[in-house]
Amino acid sequence: MVKFFGTPPGVHVGQIFVDRADLRAAGVHPPLMNGIHGTAVEGADSIVLAGGYEEDDDQGDFIIYTGEGGNDSTTKKQYKDQSVDSPGNAGLITSQLLGLPVRVSRSHKAKTPFAPPAGIRYAGLYLVTDHKVVTGSQGFKVILFRLDRLPEQEPYESNAQPTVDPVYATTTVSRRVRDSAMARKVKSLYNHECQICGVTLVTNTGLRYSEGAHVRPLGKPHLGTDVASNLLCLCPNHHTLLDVGGLAISDEYAVSFTPTMAPFAELQFKQWHVMEVSNVQYHRNQWFSAN
Ligand SMILES: [Zn+2]
Repeated sequence: MVKFFGTPPGVHVGQIFVDRADLRAAGVHPPLMNGIHGTAVEGADSIVLAGGYEEDDDQGDFIIYTGEGGNDSTTKKQYKDQSVDSPGNAGLITSQLLGLPVRVSRSHKAKTPFAPPAGIRYAGLYLVTDHKVVTGSQGFKVILFRLDRLPEQEPYESNAQPTVDPVYATTTVSRRVRDSAMARKVKSLYNHECQICGVTLVTNTGLRYSEGAHVRPLGKPHLGTDVASNLLCLCPNHHTLLDVGGLAISDEYAVSFTPTMAPFAELQFKQWHVMEVSNVQYHRNQWFSAN
């Protein structure tokens, strides 16, 4: 079945559906049981929040959503690690990389002030802006996805005020290029030369261009910090590859393309600049630990 991305015709934000069969009939969320509708190739077009996982954190305009799998269907207890290869989780990662909109619906069973009193309420379109793998409360790996609500949609009804996360307050695309004072300082230290390939981009006016790349991403759920020991001066190509897990950095600062993992460069450092090893480890775990 080919996925439909966006709000189906005839459906509006805030609409309440009696049950999962009703939600399916409207074209909002086809599966009757699974929380995620997705595949690795097409991406995920819809999720339902139903309160199945302790790590979920619903703040209205942004949601930390636990991926699928590893749960015993009868006891609801987790008994194994979640995997980035299961269709729903892989689908949400594809949607993150491609910037595809995901329909979000909340069941009355979701433990959140944004849940409806009964039935399932359609909350509109969100973008997957991040994901990470953590050890959950029951000792197994879980995948936490961050979804941010797309702007310029009808407000949803709720009993609570949405929380604004300042790092993401102006999010409109899935990949953010943040230029803080610290990023500018690191970029000028390298005179805009990429620490991986040594290339500098120069515009027609002679302006040198590079990007400040946070190795451990800022904001929830990653909580990386905006300090020099978490920043690299990179060209846009290598910044993009870093952000989508297309390259990995070893503890010795060797840089490899994934999935072959054959090193092709070493990070170049100048003067006072160091990269905290725990940040490159975090980046590797973010993209590769669930495999
Ligand atoms: Zn480069």
